[in-house]
Amino acid sequence: MSRNRVVIIGAGFAGYRAARTLTHAVRNKAEVVLLNPTDYFLYLPLLPQVATGILEPRRVTVSLTRTLPRVRLILGEADGVDLEARQVRYTDPEGERGVLAYDRLVLAVGSVNKLLPVPGIAEHAHGFRGVPEALYLRDHVTRQIELASADDDPAARRARCTFVVVGAGYTGTEVAAQGKLFTDSLVRGQALPEGVSPRWLLLDIAPRVLPELDRRLSRTADRVLRRRGVQVRTETSVEEAMSDGVRLDSGEFVATRTLIWCVGVRPDPFVERLGRPMERGRLVVDPFLNVPDHPEVFACGDAAAVPDARNPGSLTPMTAQHAWRQGAAVAHNVAASLGLGRRRRFQHGELGFTVDLGGTQAAANPLGVPLPWPLAGVVTRGYHLAAMPGNRVRVAADWLLDALLPRQAVQLGLVRSGSVPLDTASPELARIPGPPGEESDAP
Ligand SMILES: Cc1cc2nc3c(=O)[nH]c(=O)nc-3n(C[C@H](O)[C@H](O)[C@H](O)COP(=O)(O)OP(=O)(O)OC[C@H]3O[C@@H](n4cnc5c(N)ncnc54)[C@H](O)[C@@H]3O)c2cc1C
Repeated sequence: MSRNRVVIIGAGFAGYRAARTLTHAVRNKAEVVLLNPTDYFLYLPLLPQVATGILEPRRVTVSLTRTLPRVRLILGEADGVDLEARQVRYTDPEGERGVLAYDRLVLAVGSVNKLLPVPGIAEHAHGFRGVPEALYLRDHVTRQIELASADDDPAARRARCTFVVVGAGYTGTEVAAQGKLFTDSLVRGQALPEGVSPRWLLLDIAPRVLPELDRRLSRTADRVLRRRGVQVRTETSVEEAMSDGVRLDSGEFVATRTLIWCVGVRPDPFVERLGRPMERGRLVVDPFLNVPDHPEVFACGDAAAVPDARNPGSLTPMTAQHAWRQGAAVAHNVAASLGLGRRRRFQHGELGFTVDLGGTQAAANPLGVPLPWPLAGVVTRGYHLAAMPGNRVRVAADWLLDALLPRQAVQLGLVRSGSVPLDTASPELARIPGPPGEESDAP
């Protein structure tokens, strides 16, 4: 008798957890196939630490084949789903096309950078979606400090040493807070010309940093940022980005070669292609994570419009903790649809938030209780270690080394500006290589 096949598209928080839980829930009664462009699960919350030289890039990647030995991994990117024929079309990393038939399908494709209609952003800003972006930014920031140190023009030196982060959510706040520590460590102990003094700006249209989190976390983050010398500009936005700087909506021009775009994410537009009902860009599912009228199709994570049982009328937030738990829930419901166990409604209450501000500083409110320094820092790092599905010892070792040794100030030059476009929803853009040498000046 042939086994049922469950195909999961996407190995992020939701897809990885779904695959792991399914292998236990269905045992050998179904084949679990995971389709993902990379051979690793990416622990996104620690990506700012890769960009600022705290963690080596492989630390935030967890091998899929090592940690999911009973799952069949197909490397590739889904191009489309034929709901009638129950098939997924995909393209592998070498451009070969393939088709996967399924009995059950789990869509867990996550999200992409959110672009705003601001002139120059797509060309001049860089975002934060994967290891290549983090590596690019680490090199780029290092290079700006090195080029500034050798420049004869004081205005050019100042521009290169100015770093602008747009969006003061948890990603932007962490990047600005940790970025300032990174550049301070790059210039420390050197006899540098006047103007080579790193300046970080963190902008947000909202009236406070971490606008979506508890006010007490905002206050902690704001205090740490300002003490560290980060210029926090709330109720401020970018009107235009150019190759030599940005114009703010106040009319002020900030000369810079670095514009880091952290205004948030939007659900991966891949799910729109299914032609099924959508809500706020997310694929509509019922409380069992089932796509209506298709009992064999499920969706979870950022790309799914999951009803929030604790807040009737709203959707669950696009966070790792929700995606991770939805992955487990979807696995149980897929197994139930195959006659193994009973299906469950998805329900999860917020467990609080942690924002790592670098050094020993953090803003954290586990179970809604804001923690003081240094407990917040300890809990934040402990939480990440517990939440990561692998690499814990390596991550802890990097943190220890970072506490004891100066950061390594070298560029590897592996990622060019053109290969990390801000528009991560357009894979064709990502395949356009940047012109040689182009990345040296591009913000
Ligand atoms: C820099 C950053 C920091 C964050 N920090 C936090 C934090 O501190 N706390 C928190 O709660 N949340 C945080 N988040 C949000 C959190 O990471 C997301 O909510 C979570 O990753 C959503 O999980 P997911 O499984 O839906 O998507 P993802 O984890 O994004 O995974 C989606 C997967 O699908 C794959 N994929 C996409 N398209 C296709 C396709 N067509 N075919 C095959 N595979 C595809 C992707 O490659 C990826 O592996 C952060 C996000 C970012 C970007």
